Amino acid sequence: MDKPGLASSPMTKTSPKKRIAIYAGSFDPPTDGHLNIIERGLALCDELIVAVSVNTFKTSTLSVLERVALLKEILQDKSQITVTHFENKLLADYAKEHGVHIILRGLRCVADYEYELQMALANKKMAPQLETVFMMTESRYSHLSSSLLKEIIQLGGSGHGMIHPVVERELRRKLKV
Ligand code: ADP
Repeated sequence: MDKPGLASSPMTKTSPKKRIAIYAGSFDPPTDGHLNIIERGLALCDELIVAVSVNTFKTSTLSVLERVALLKEILQDKSQITVTHFENKLLADYAKEHGVHIILRGLRCVADYEYELQMALANKKMAPQLETVFMMTESRYSHLSSSLLKEIIQLGGSGHGMIHPVVERELRRKLKV
């Protein structure tokens, strides 16, 4: 039985804090590899922000708003997820402004690791309160990248099992194939 007075004491009361994670990327286009990381990442948080971030060093096929619209459509039944975008801003700053605790990232191979390590260390320096959490890709998605998918669709291949049908339709429209 609770001791009288103890349960209501401000010292013993733990305020339930929502754990917010962010999964940011170019998503040009989102692949099933990205969607798998999103699905599994949900288990780590109460809220997941999926953010299309504009990479100034990459030229894109889909506009930012097209990528946001695709992700919103695919993820519409997941109430824990908010899809958004940001540009001209550091992920660390965006995360701080939105009360984020976890940066979620996916890893496919050693080449990913080198880039991701650099990003994680830079983000830790800029925002020490943030933790970057890496999820290994599932083997069936380890070969998937946005650029590979664009090439497959451009050359007349099928995106089945690699991109969502909604994404494939939009990619075909954009690439005029
Ligand atoms: P960025 O331009 O930020 O690298 P991407 O859209 O290419 O954006 O990727 C976003 C994140 O998703 C990165 O952490 C990347 O390693 C991860 N990722 C990309 N493709 C896959 C995949 N097939 N399986 C698991 N993680 C992936």
